[in-house]
Amino acid sequence: MAPPAAHSNGQSPNDPARPQWQDGWLLGWGQAAATPPPAASAGVPVRHLPSPNHGPRPDGAVLDLLVVHSISLPPGEYGTGQVERLFTNTLDWDAHPYFQTLRGLEVSAHFFIDRHGRLTQCVPIDRRAWHAGRSCWRGRDNCNDWSVGVELEGLEGDRFEPAQYQTLSALVLALQAVCPLREVVGHEHIAPGRKQDPGPGFDWCAFARSPGGQGVWSPAADGGPEAG
Ligand SMILES: [Zn+2]
Repeated sequence: MAPPAAHSNGQSPNDPARPQWQDGWLLGWGQAAATPPPAASAGVPVRHLPSPNHGPRPDGAVLDLLVVHSISLPPGEYGTGQVERLFTNTLDWDAHPYFQTLRGLEVSAHFFIDRHGRLTQCVPIDRRAWHAGRSCWRGRDNCNDWSVGVELEGLEGDRFEPAQYQTLSALVLALQAVCPLREVVGHEHIAPGRKQDPGPGFDWCAFARSPGGQGVWSPAADGGPEAG
């Protein structure tokens, strides 16, 4: 019997399709991808929308943390395209009263997952995106240095869509193909008292049950990865 093809052929329908990366950008899950993520059904699994808001990571940075955020612009309105404008420094600060509070802000995340579970990448993972700000996790500060930032379209306190959990799960698995990701936490956990996202509407137990959530520590778990 011939050995199985390494990439786009020969995968069991039950296996996650192999993620394809190039220069820190997730290209997709291969042409054979039938399931993860939901956006794959659109034929373009990952949209690339480069943000100018990033910098170099420190030498030797090990990407073992994923930080979950929530954002919607204006807050509570979905699918407006304004989040994407914020991340690309093209938001019209005068278009909505709330945007005045963001004037001049230069922020980004590596990934954005909209309410339909569609995945957009704004910063390659080998660059330091500007998502967490002042932060600390397990004694290490400046989490932007060594984390991947993922913004879920949503509102603190509001629920998130099943499609968003599916894409987040698929993304965790894809990241683990290229970096030693082992923990997934919320912005609220690395900046307590200062940040509240994604908030109580994010179902950490649902995430922990997902294929991607099963291979990482997350706040739904008892104790930490060292707790045994
Ligand atoms: Zn945040």
